[in-house]
Amino acid sequence: MAAHTDVGEDAAARRDRAVRAAVEQGLVGGADAAEPLTCLLDTAGIRASAAALTSAFAGVLAPGTPVLHAFAVKAAPLVPVLRLLADAGLGCEVASPGELALARAAGVPAGRTVLDSPAKTAAELREALALGIAVNADNPQELERLDALLAAAPTTAPIGLRINPQTGAGAIDALSTATATSKFGVALRDPGARAWLVRAYLDRPWLTRLHIHSGSQGVPLALIAQGVRELHALAEEINAAAGRRQVDTLDIGGGLPVNFASDEETPTFAQYVTALREAVPALFDGSYGLVTEFGRALLAKHGLVLARVEYTKTSGSRPIALTHAGVQLATRTAYAPAAWPVRILAYDAKGAAKTGDVVAQDVAGPACFAGDLLAVGRELPRLAPGDLIGVPDTGAYFFTAHYGYNSLPRPAVHGFTVGPGGEVRFRLARPAQSLSAIVAEAGGALGDALL
Ligand SMILES: *Cc1c(COP(=O)(O)O)cnc(C)c1O
Repeated sequence: MAAHTDVGEDAAARRDRAVRAAVEQGLVGGADAAEPLTCLLDTAGIRASAAALTSAFAGVLAPGTPVLHAFAVKAAPLVPVLRLLADAGLGCEVASPGELALARAAGVPAGRTVLDSPAKTAAELREALALGIAVNADNPQELERLDALLAAAPTTAPIGLRINPQTGAGAIDALSTATATSKFGVALRDPGARAWLVRAYLDRPWLTRLHIHSGSQGVPLALIAQGVRELHALAEEINAAAGRRQVDTLDIGGGLPVNFASDEETPTFAQYVTALREAVPALFDGSYGLVTEFGRALLAKHGLVLARVEYTKTSGSRPIALTHAGVQLATRTAYAPAAWPVRILAYDAKGAAKTGDVVAQDVAGPACFAGDLLAVGRELPRLAPGDLIGVPDTGAYFFTAHYGYNSLPRPAVHGFTVGPGGEVRFRLARPAQSLSAIVAEAGGALGDALL
């Protein structure tokens, strides 16, 4: 028997192994008694992406330059994932009290946490400043609120301001944060904005950072890099006006897009760093510490949904597979299918890759609305009841961003590793939501409240 090692085996081979093992070990299955749905995370893949990010920047940064790679928690808000990434040297970018609580539960120190939401309450700001968490303010009113909080209590927290370079949209409007009228940050090209920004920094010696995040999936590398160039130029302008290096850290956000069309991981972190070097050669010269905030590019490729095909039918002569994976875990795909296509992998009831006659079929989810479809007219081996479908590339913003439609439960998430002999070991990273938990979260204890 061939020896397989985790290191040498590629991600697709690890995935197929994990699918078979998930059926064998009873995590999910075609049989009636088995769980109809589960989610898997490839632990080695996540570690490899974290290492690729870290080494891409380490390879070009002047020695000794401070850098924090803060994982955007919203991409995969699971405590074991945050702990794994922390173990790999990453921090957390949080944008709500819930995300901050998760980062703290994962043991991520305040000094490795960045808070970035557009609507922080005074209480949130006060807590972040007291803990020493880096804060990026969004707008002039928030800066005034910080003025008052800092006058009341000093802080060690580094503080920055988010700018919107207004460099334009990517392919997906809903995820483009650098449009002319975006809700995020201070709009850099609005009349008078630049002068106001420089003055705001000169008036506040404690403002030492500048922040940008030009958008997520769909924003081309060149556009992200152009935004970072604007950020760097503004920092230089502020520092020249201040006559000192007041801005000492640039937070360049995340947004590296992910390839949803194949197993190829492209663009890579190394390609992103190359694009940055071309657009902003001085970025890596050691004059500024750096913060990054990647989410999707670290996790997406390492997640897989496995769901049973419950029934198959035809409607208007179109074959349809009714599965347990739908809008509850692929919300964007169901509501905006053109922007969020997903691949579908076909497996038989034992978890072996399915072969046989390929037919165009719809792959539907369990929810009660017509748009609950993962794929329309997709060419796949003809699915049958008891088969499994796999939905790869779902490690970020899919099953970790559950949508509670139809009171469908949050499925379990299992991390997996493949040992030297090819054996697959699963570790529960999130339990399936129980029916009693659904009832409790739906006011189960308050049944008489409206009588
Ligand atoms: C969502 C978000 C990120 C992460 O974006 P990805 O596309 O997942 O890398 C980073 N920073 C901010 C401010 C965000 O809102």
